[in-house]
Amino acid sequence: MSEITNLLNKQLKNNKNEKIIKDETTNKWFTGLEFGEDVNDLKKTLIDLHIGLGDVVLVCLPNTAAYPVLTQALWEVGAIMHPISATTPERELQQELSDHDYVASIVGENLVNAVLDERMTIVTALHLQTYSILHIIRDRKLMGHEAALPKEDDLALILNTSGTTGKPKRVGLTHRILKNAAEHDIESHQMNQHDTTMIVMPMFHINAQAISILSTRLSGGKIVVTEKFSASKFWNQIRDNGVTWVSVVPTIVNILLINKNSLAAYSNDIKLRFVRCSSFALPLDKLTEFQTKFHTRILEGYGMTETASQCTINPFDAPKVGSAGKAFKTDVAIMVDGKVVSESNQLGEIVVKGDHVISDYLDPHPDSFKDGWFLTGDLGYLDNDGYLFVKGRKKDIINHGGEKVAPAQVENILSQLNFVREVSVIGTPDTLYGEAVTAVVITRGDQDEELERRKIMAHAKASLANYEQPTRIFFVKDYPRNATGKVIRLKLREQVMSALVGKRA
Ligand code: ATP
Ligand code: MG
Repeated sequence: MSEITNLLNKQLKNNKNEKIIKDETTNKWFTGLEFGEDVNDLKKTLIDLHIGLGDVVLVCLPNTAAYPVLTQALWEVGAIMHPISATTPERELQQELSDHDYVASIVGENLVNAVLDERMTIVTALHLQTYSILHIIRDRKLMGHEAALPKEDDLALILNTSGTTGKPKRVGLTHRILKNAAEHDIESHQMNQHDTTMIVMPMFHINAQAISILSTRLSGGKIVVTEKFSASKFWNQIRDNGVTWVSVVPTIVNILLINKNSLAAYSNDIKLRFVRCSSFALPLDKLTEFQTKFHTRILEGYGMTETASQCTINPFDAPKVGSAGKAFKTDVAIMVDGKVVSESNQLGEIVVKGDHVISDYLDPHPDSFKDGWFLTGDLGYLDNDGYLFVKGRKKDIINHGGEKVAPAQVENILSQLNFVREVSVIGTPDTLYGEAVTAVVITRGDQDEELERRKIMAHAKASLANYEQPTRIFFVKDYPRNATGKVIRLKLREQVMSALVGKRA
């Protein structure tokens, strides 16, 4: 058995009579014993169905306490789990199944018909304690393998990247990578058996899979699974379940700050050790406002699907506001013109290396690796104390008459305005300057737009260089976003461009 599977089993044995995972939707806790029984039931079924070493199984389920059960059962027979969103449209789901060799799919009741076709046939409807009925759908033609113990460098998990910059990339994570990633997270978050985390992020993403679930399970803590984030339930769920830390994204921070139910539900007896935030830039003033309002420390971290866990995290004893923290066990450097630079404060591409970083994608993306480094495509710098400041993505940099504008810099400044709830800065075509700095703003909605526009202009003038100041400002109700709440800038740009064309017409 791989080391990580062994460790997961050991924790189950240690916690037979302890409540280890809760399904918030059904309000039910499950003990280590119940969890283990589910793992064994599923494992037996997989063996009967000849699903084993190296077989890829597509998992398409909403957030559920059964997710980690599936992971463990699949790993124990040597299979590889590929989770995707339970809201994947039927056509995309069928495309996914025809593009890749899945020996089987595991889905809930609502998706059975979407998966069935002349190739795919239902073989089992399995009742688990952690999930009412799981449907296992087998490919008729693909031969599966016998169950066998996976090796450390065998694949364990296939995850898609968020698809923020284009088509999602398929990332294969091995047992070794996941174990290393979980151990780093445990150490950097100082996690132990007294911790309880709550999952509010989608479970088919790395954020929930590695940072919340695997690290908590390996450290013997408890997990509360919510179906999805709810601003009105959030603080009650934290209080009632004794949650000690939670992983969120900036969208959630923003919503909790403005949602009336969230503000009403918060009370001073809520004690979280910390809130971990990553995925995209959290504007400085929002971080400060959250810490003050909710008396909770936010630790910002930086990571990606390809690194399974975070590459940097703010240390408990010395967090630096505005930074994504320090490298913990990962080598993090800045590359300029293909060379790693040794000076601090130099802006360039963030590159990473470490025992939790992939060495290749499943599909070829050769431009992502150089001299043993994984090139993240993100821009940033390391300050004199080694703290990382992420400045956005290389692809998002705006070229305004030859001057390079990092959107994050402008976003941070405009977020300082009280009435600005969120702001995304993009480049739009401009005949004179090549690209115009364009601010797309979501406001708190209590003022006149013209007045707000003037205030934004004045604030930008006072705080930004000439070439960084937005010359176009749009107000929108929301952005196109992916499942983790990230703004899909390509789509936003398209929307803004068609609005621009509409204006000219
Ligand atoms: P794709 O690779 O398909 O374009 P994606 O990069 O958004 O999508 P993920 O792996 O989910 O997919 O996200 C990792 C990315 O999220 C990082 O490369 C970085 O751009 C961004 N990110 C993560 N943490 C932070 C942070 N603290 N500040 C700014 N950006 C962050
Ligand atoms: Mg990426």
